[in-house]
Amino acid sequence: MFSLSNVIRPHILTLTPYASARDEYSGKEGTFLDANENPYGSVISGNYNRYPDPYQAAVKEKLGEIKGVRPAQIFLGNGSDEAIDLVIRATCEPQKDNILILPPTYGMYKVCADVQNIEVKQVPLTPDFQVDTKKVLETADKHTKIIWICSPNNPSGNIIERNAILHILDNFKTGLVVVDEAYIDFATEDSFTKLLDTYPNLVVLQTFSKAWGLAALRLGMAFASDEFIKILNKIKYPYNLNGVTQKLLYAALGKENKKDKYVKQILKERKRLHKKLSELSIVKHIYPSDSNQLLVKFTDANALFHFLIEQKVITRNRSNVILCEDCIRISIGTQKENDTLLKALKKY
Ligand code: PMP
Repeated sequence: MFSLSNVIRPHILTLTPYASARDEYSGKEGTFLDANENPYGSVISGNYNRYPDPYQAAVKEKLGEIKGVRPAQIFLGNGSDEAIDLVIRATCEPQKDNILILPPTYGMYKVCADVQNIEVKQVPLTPDFQVDTKKVLETADKHTKIIWICSPNNPSGNIIERNAILHILDNFKTGLVVVDEAYIDFATEDSFTKLLDTYPNLVVLQTFSKAWGLAALRLGMAFASDEFIKILNKIKYPYNLNGVTQKLLYAALGKENKKDKYVKQILKERKRLHKKLSELSIVKHIYPSDSNQLLVKFTDANALFHFLIEQKVITRNRSNVILCEDCIRISIGTQKENDTLLKALKKY
């Protein structure tokens, strides 16, 4: 049986969150003399002088409808990087607890753990970038508070088999299973958000930085049980999502069709780029992708990466990363950008 109170750091359970005077008054109209703001206005045009809603109620209401979850199951952060950091801070006691990651994977799980002096256990993915569930469950111990599963995975791009994730959710009950779905909009698989009511040990991360095209706004989501979201809200900075971002997000949520159109365009380009790359003799392998990136094995990735930089084509050199020897990760660009890449590769 999973019990959240066994997973949260004991002192965090006893903390009282920062409370604003506006917690006592939810009206929009009134004489607000509680937050030491400038009552006259802002030094630039626009009304930025009042603090934003710390609970982001309006955007969560709208987002909940789109995602099929309740507002109480949503945490919004300054990028999903904020959620990654907070999930670790909520659960892991430094120098006692550990997290388990499945390399090659997104770098911030380890970075955030390292900053907090938290041990990082590693169980590499299989050569086809799937999860060795037996090894994962054997490696997790009583101090393992989080197993991180990135699906579709970065940098390999592939979705992780659903049954593998379900097996871990069913068998790891002493900590959280975080499924990072930053690239889910590009995949055909269903999101794990549908299983939130079945698995209290499940946390799903998503982001507005990829398909939605809002990377500059820094907007990430965590979906989990009401109880765990309460904990995240308790330890976040009160105004972690600024007012401008909340307003822009509200507008963006009405433009899901445009996001879907972008996804279609990117998937079409991924297919074309895949075909064109496969015709080049320097390309040794292109890994299957369910995201907006292609992991490509070349004859000499290091030298090629630097040649591309000289050509002002910037890719991600992954050749020193486990299971990615001689690989470069390529984000799917516009048709023109992809043609520029292909032209540079032909020049090499
Ligand atoms: N998770 C994965 C798998 C990512 O690749 C990234 C960004 N590259 C993030 C999370 C962080 O995204 P955000 O911009 O929301 O912080």
